[in-house]
Amino acid sequence: MLHIHHSTQDVKVHSLASGSSGNAMLVQAGDTNLLIDAGLSLKVLSSHLTRLSVPSTSLSAILLTHEHTDHSISAGSMSRRNKAPLIANAATLNAYQQREELPFETLELPTGSETLVGRIGIRSFPVPHDAVETVGYILQAGNVRIVYCTDVGSVTPEVRASLEGVNLAIVESNHGLDRLMRGPYTEEMKARVASPHGHLSNEDCGDLIAERLEEGGAMTVWLAHLSRVNNSPALARRSVMGRISARTNVPVKLEVALRDHPSLTWKSGTQAFQQSLF
Ligand SMILES: [Zn+2]
Ligand SMILES: [Zn+2]
Repeated sequence: MLHIHHSTQDVKVHSLASGSSGNAMLVQAGDTNLLIDAGLSLKVLSSHLTRLSVPSTSLSAILLTHEHTDHSISAGSMSRRNKAPLIANAATLNAYQQREELPFETLELPTGSETLVGRIGIRSFPVPHDAVETVGYILQAGNVRIVYCTDVGSVTPEVRASLEGVNLAIVESNHGLDRLMRGPYTEEMKARVASPHGHLSNEDCGDLIAERLEEGGAMTVWLAHLSRVNNSPALARRSVMGRISARTNVPVKLEVALRDHPSLTWKSGTQAFQQSLF
């Protein structure tokens, strides 16, 4: 898959926001700027991009994982502003177009297939979640591979396989199981979050990462899409690390992508380089 023969180059990933109040990640390779999800207002998203010295008219494409508002609210307007395609599968594009009145450029990417945008190869994979056809994305630039996998109700063989060979894994760690069950959500909401088509728990996330580390060696992991009510950065980190260290000694660099502001930057080639943006 993704046989793209570019020389090794710097790849940067920035977490702009991650959680049910909005999701957006910027991936840069050379002059290619990809936005994964556009779940912040146009104003907020534009100001985050400006602070990263990325004009909000210089995006190469916008990738959409699914039509839920926390991932899609500015997708159409960002597409129009950048004259760049919104990339998603047909079901997701249809669902999103029903809400978005103005036209925008689209590029249909059937789930499981690949495309190339500038210097970045893109492949989607199916993810179990309660939207029409949710996907995660594997991105490849040179020999750098990144996976983006949030809003994932349960770990499927496709989800497991998506982490193979990645340098950076951005994986949902939505809630502590115990905190969800004892927390203030209604029984109906608890059942939705915990269902195989809801959101991934810290425990399942930790087991998924542990298994990948056992099989494949070191990587950086960003815990993403944390619940404000049923999780905290400290709980997610403690819980995931606990699951990992129970199984393997392979080193992992674990960071937490914060919910409501830019929080992390990853740069290829400098294994341990990572810092807060602001
Ligand atoms: Zn979401
Ligand atoms: Zn969702």
